[in-house]
Amino acid sequence: MAEPQIRLGRAAFASMYETLRTALPKEAGGVLVGWRDGAHIVVVAALPVADVGARTAHYVRRHAAASEALNSYLETATDPLAGYVGEWHTHPVSAPPSQTDKESIVAVASQIDAPIALVVLAWDRTRGDVDLHGVSARRMEERVILALAHCVRLEVNCVDG
Ligand SMILES: [Zn+2]
Repeated sequence: MAEPQIRLGRAAFASMYETLRTALPKEAGGVLVGWRDGAHIVVVAALPVADVGARTAHYVRRHAAASEALNSYLETATDPLAGYVGEWHTHPVSAPPSQTDKESIVAVASQIDAPIALVVLAWDRTRGDVDLHGVSARRMEERVILALAHCVRLEVNCVDG
């Protein structure tokens, strides 16, 4: 089977990128909104969720704040298919998802009956650019299967379409 893709709409990527730059040298993150296309996940929005305790290598996605951000987005969303599809956060240094990152996405996926995505946007200071790391997590009966997912940046927002 082909590697699952996480397809990032233009606005979703821009939101993550802005949040990363603003939060440096701390981590920041939030929830992903979009829909599934077979094994692939299409992300139309990356909603920031503030973590008052964020540090250089630490971001905890606050549940109540995340629900609030998600609900207020979905209230005004024009696409009826859009919903929660995963989590994202930034790394202020060039580093892929950590063991803790993988454990937390497994914990979330174990509660949900559909594949979800984790996107880590890592800042590479030497290049002055970002690296995108994607992981997809899917519950199969009692277990959660983690797979590396290829992040694809789309030139469009993919809203309403
Ligand atoms: Zn991380």
